[in-house]
Amino acid sequence: MCIFCEIIKGNIPSKKVYEDEDILAILDISQTTKGHTLVMPKKHYENFLEMPKDEYASLMAKVQDLAKQIINNLEAKGCNILINTNEVAGQSVMHCHVHIIPRYDENDTVSFRFSENDLDLDEVLAAIKKENC
Ligand code: AMP
Ligand code: ZN
Repeated sequence: MCIFCEIIKGNIPSKKVYEDEDILAILDISQTTKGHTLVMPKKHYENFLEMPKDEYASLMAKVQDLAKQIINNLEAKGCNILINTNEVAGQSVMHCHVHIIPRYDENDTVSFRFSENDLDLDEVLAAIKKENC
């Protein structure tokens, strides 16, 4: 069984930020910044691409509520919402989860760098629009 399913079942302890019938939110053990929280469906899906649309919509609605609560109560100035999808994107626990990472200042421990590529935008667009999945 995956580690998050073990947490959901109560076999591994966690710091619960929120829980209902379908969703669990816990403090991330790494606390990248103060209040770093993981929001997950209780049902095991490997990643968000696997989730039925209505369940994904409910999950993200709860992410929005919790992000507001965390920002307000911890006096953060903003947050990053992050879903790592598959190993290539840094997903290490293969049970869908959304990171809420509160941000306090630009020089904190989190950094995302979007480097530039000289790709042809029309080619990229044509490739994306090739098929509707
Ligand atoms: P990801 O790399 O997107 O799959 O994120 C997995 C996250 O789970 C990491 O940020 C870990 O710090 C966190 N994590 C792993 N094990 C636990 C645990 N037992 N309790 C809380 N967070 C955990
Ligand atoms: Zn699981």
